[in-house]
Amino acid sequence: MCGYKVVLTADETLMCNYGGNIFLGFMTTGPVSGFKPFNVVMNFLLKPVPVDSNGRALTAPLSLRIIESILIDSNVVKPNEIVVTHPKNLPKVISNDTRIIGVSVMDPKGLGPASSTFSGPYGLIHSEPYSAYMFKKLIRSEVMQKARKWASIVVGGSGAWQLNIDDMKKLGIDVLFIGEAEEEIPRLFKKLIEDCRPEKPMIVTANQSHSIPRIKGATICGLIEISRGCGRGCRFCAPTMRILRHKPLEDILHDVKVNVEAGQKNICLHAEDVLQYGGTAFKKRPDLVFKLFSSVISIDGVKFVSVSHAALSSIAENPRLISDVSEILGLAKSRWLGYQTGIETGSVKLIDKLMHMKPYPFTPKDWPNVVEEAFKISSDFNWVPAATLILNLPGEKPEDVLATADLIDKLKPYKSLIVPLLYVPMIDSHGHKARRLLEDADDAYWQLYHVVWRHNMKWIPVLAKDYLAEISPKIGLPIKFFISFVKSFINTLIELKLSHIKTLEVTRKIET
Ligand code: SF4
Repeated sequence: MCGYKVVLTADETLMCNYGGNIFLGFMTTGPVSGFKPFNVVMNFLLKPVPVDSNGRALTAPLSLRIIESILIDSNVVKPNEIVVTHPKNLPKVISNDTRIIGVSVMDPKGLGPASSTFSGPYGLIHSEPYSAYMFKKLIRSEVMQKARKWASIVVGGSGAWQLNIDDMKKLGIDVLFIGEAEEEIPRLFKKLIEDCRPEKPMIVTANQSHSIPRIKGATICGLIEISRGCGRGCRFCAPTMRILRHKPLEDILHDVKVNVEAGQKNICLHAEDVLQYGGTAFKKRPDLVFKLFSSVISIDGVKFVSVSHAALSSIAENPRLISDVSEILGLAKSRWLGYQTGIETGSVKLIDKLMHMKPYPFTPKDWPNVVEEAFKISSDFNWVPAATLILNLPGEKPEDVLATADLIDKLKPYKSLIVPLLYVPMIDSHGHKARRLLEDADDAYWQLYHVVWRHNMKWIPVLAKDYLAEISPKIGLPIKFFISFVKSFINTLIELKLSHIKTLEVTRKIET
């Protein structure tokens, strides 16, 4: 063992299996202090991924598996010269031969929409999110900083944009890599292995790649990338900046087999809209999507296939595909398929202005009906949306917020989860200001919060019952306890607070 030239890792919020449900990963955007019951649950959730006797993680984030694959395929390192590991194993795998410690990041400063909503200066509880806290803890750890005497620390990944030169100097990072890895990472790592650590912090920005590599090791929750990019062109959205590309089916099946061989039974297909696989937002290929699902579920050892994201307009466009996929996956009331999706707003005006192509092939004025129809289709065929709303969009007025509240009210009959997220502009551009979730909420916001809260209080216990039946009691019990606590205690407090707001509204109306 040892003699690894390249050591790849990520902080404890990323090197974790989330009890087998990747959607629980969103909890890592919650506050690291300020709400004890939540912190108790997090202690149970953040269990390290298992590693073998050589320190190799048996499952790892997809981003690290991609880097590992690129470096081996381009002959920058041999398979025995690279390791993907949990931070707790770093003292075991870092040696004098190590030239690079690569760290994948998703939310290193807690600036992502979910962290901004649940934690941080604008969010629900003004404390640092776990994601940012754990990242700093890892980079500042003695083992990492000691290794900088002879090795370079390279940080990259989807959250790398949050960091700058000052952060690099403060934290002790040598190279910040922003962009897609496939083309540039082999050149960069080869140079860093041959030369010494750069004297000054260096930022490398890379272009988009042409292909998505096959992976060589299992991923957390069996996550497999099937497409990159989106193509619908919404403003303020990172995936829209990327050209839409699809991974060939044979490569996807290869990745599925790699996961199955490592003992994974559940596979999660990842794309911004899984229903666009093989086509585009403008020309769908339902035949290829169906083939994808039927091929993956047919692989020996695969018990379930889920998806990361699906667009509501794609669901409303092709209910037949949803029905067919449900049938081959054997979905039922208690065996449902959860997916993340974006409602963002119920305001036709804002959809038209900021996300004109989101409803395609429908039009912006159809959006509220598209959302409702997609929820109905999902419910009929046992797909369960976890749908985001974006609050504080540029140009948002109280009537837009109330239009969203109206729409959410109509979704009450459908099993689902609604997640409001704050849009926090990085700079005060064109007078559009950041807004705090609670302190800056006006009556329209409180009405929306009330509808969302009631929706979630209706469905979370139902969803939790099915979901918790599938996972280990070690993680399931604390989550169950937390949900009961929220339902009985927090719910009463919130209903009291919201009824007070309503009373104020009525008083104001009488006065005017
Ligand atoms: S549809 Fe979703 S992923 Fe695509 S550009 Fe719009 S917000 Fe981004």
